[in-house]
This record gives sequence, structure tokens and C-alpha cells, in this order.
Amino acid sequence: MPSVPDALVDPFGRRVEDLRLSVTDRCNFRCTYCMPAEGLDWLPRSDLLTYEELARIARICVERWAFSGIRITGGEPTVRAQLPRLFEMLAPLGVDLAMTTNGVRLAKIAGDLAAAGLRRVNVSLDSLKPDVFERLTRRPELDNTLAGIDAALAAGLGPVKINCVVMRGVNDDEVVDLAAFGREIGVGVRFIEFMPLDADGGWNLDQVVPAREILERIDAVFPLDLDAREARAGEHVEPAARFSYRDGGGDVGVIASVTEPFCGNCDRVRLTAEGKFRTCLFALEEFDLRAIIRADATDDEIATMIARAVGTKWAGHRIARVDFVRPTRSMSQIGG
Ligand code: SAM
Ligand code: SF4
Repeated sequence: MPSVPDALVDPFGRRVEDLRLSVTDRCNFRCTYCMPAEGLDWLPRSDLLTYEELARIARICVERWAFSGIRITGGEPTVRAQLPRLFEMLAPLGVDLAMTTNGVRLAKIAGDLAAAGLRRVNVSLDSLKPDVFERLTRRPELDNTLAGIDAALAAGLGPVKINCVVMRGVNDDEVVDLAAFGREIGVGVRFIEFMPLDADGGWNLDQVVPAREILERIDAVFPLDLDAREARAGEHVEPAARFSYRDGGGDVGVIASVTEPFCGNCDRVRLTAEGKFRTCLFALEEFDLRAIIRADATDDEIATMIARAVGTKWAGHRIARVDFVRPTRSMSQIGG
């Protein structure tokens, strides 16, 4: 191990320092923008990286290149058994340890996760109306999701953020209500443009509500400082552009992956639940870390494959352009 970690830099000069680890492709929800009602063909359990394998890859990234953030995701990460054990293994790395979850199991396990070393969560919440929530997630779990957000706050998993995918004609009429809800409970809401990563290929540009429009709707009710995009403070690069409310009521974020891609300062790489390393959600190439790990690769060999993959990271995805090639996997299979 080198004594002073070198930065891992991609061909466009961007430092890579944020690792997204998917721990499962399974989920207890069936969000329409992510997977079909019947679910997907789940990976056999033996295909999933073990916690030891995940922690080894994370350690290599932190030791060699001083990665500053690790986010656990899925599928739904909280459906994987003994999840606190993974956080116990990652906590000694001393990095910003976060998780993205649909929140429905948090009321049961937030305390255990926090005790094991998880620092903060993003909880997905697309609607405050029980019927719309159920139509979107295909599960009648709004109350449990809300209880999960409360539990995360009570367990100190903050700053808690809410992720909301906005779809025209489905939940875009709730943008202001969701912003108001975030203000009320002291949680920043991140509105995400609907991306072409749904499993059934039903995406179309008309359903995307541009981030600019989302901000204008919120600003009309709760004035925002739209000229001053919040600088990040001590965090690694966020894809969300954050804007403060003029009355000091916190902030709101928009993730304009479609209309204003933030690829220029992307610092992230991803590992799918079965150990395929990807340099972009929309990457068409994957690097099979599991194969070499299970063939007894050394840390150097693993690091070499990661560095080789990062050497293929592209300048930016091309959603909404004519030459866009849609990945064959959904967000839950890649790791959101
Ligand atoms: N199950 C967890 C959850 O829903 O928060 C973590 C995995 S999920 C794939 C991660 C994030 O991706 C969620 O916030 C979800 O709303 C978002 N997402 C999934 N499919 C999407 C799509 N087609 N466009 C935009 N965001 C999407
Ligand atoms: Fe599950 Fe998250 Fe996909 Fe919804 S977005 S189906 S909660 S993985």
C-alpha cells in the first residue's frame, strides 16, 4: 500500500472519490419507473458479493486513492440480511458513509444501522398521497416510509434527505407539497428528473419535468435564492444543485440528469451487487471484479482493474441526444 494515497483521476481530469456499492438487486417495492410489477430475475444469492468482498473493494479504494465517500444502495439495501455487519466493516475506513433506501424498514433498523457506523440516509418519497404512493411503488406503504424518515431523524442519520423522482402527470402536482413537507420536518428534498432506466422501457421525454420548472414552481410559493447555487461544504460533489429558501427554511435540490447533466464534475463509480464495476449509471461497459476476486486476485490486481475501468470513464452520458444508447439494466440492477 502506498504511504500517501494518490488521487484516482479519469481521462477528463475529474478526481474519482465516491463509491456506490449495491448490496442487492432485490426490492420490497416495485416502483413503476424502476421495475415491473412481477419484479426482475433476481440474482442467485451466491452471485452477490459477500460483505467481506464489498469491504475489501471499499478498503482498496480508500487506502489507495483516498476515496471520501461510500454510499450503500440497491435494489433496496435494507432487504439484505445482517446489513449492520457491513457498516461495522466499513466504518473503520473513516469516510462519509451513506445509504439510499425506500425507508420502509428504517423504523425497525435505523438505530442498529447508526450504531454500526452508517452516518446518513437519503429516503425515497415520491408522493404524500397514499393512492399515488401506492400506484408509483405498487405497495401501500406510505405510512411506513414516513415512519422510516422519522426513525432516521431520531437515530441521528442526518442530514436526512428525501429523493423524489418527478414524473409529469403522475406526481408533478405535488412538488410544492413535498417541498413544504421537507421544510416542516427540516429535511432537504432532492427532486430527480425521470431517467431512461426503467425496466420496461416506458421512458419518454414528455414525462420528464425539467429541473428548472420544478424550481420555478417551488420559488413561486417559497421564494428561493435561485442565483446562488449552494457551494458544497466539506462534502464530496453532489449531483444535486442546491438552492436555499430566502426565509432561511433550509434548502431544496434538483438533479437534472436529463436536461442539465452534471457529468462535468462527476466523481463517482459504481459496483453492482454481483461485483461488476461501472464508471457511469449509463456506462455500456462493465468490469468483472467478482471474477478476479474469486480467482484469488491480489489487492494490486483488483486496483489495476479499477484503474483500468476508470481509464474508460467517459466525458458524459448522452440522455436526450439522438445517439443515446440505453443501458440494458434498470436502476435497481445497476445500483442507484
Ligand atoms: N431502493 C432504494 C431507493 O429507492 O431509494 C435505493 C435504490 S434506487 C434504484 C435509488 C434511487 O434511484 C431512488 O431514489 C430512486 O427513486 C431512483 N430511481 C430509480 N429509477 C429511476 C429512474 N428511472 N429515474 C430517476 N431516478 C430513478
Ligand atoms: Fe425498489 Fe428503489 Fe427501484 Fe423503487 S426505486 S423499485 S424502492 S430499488
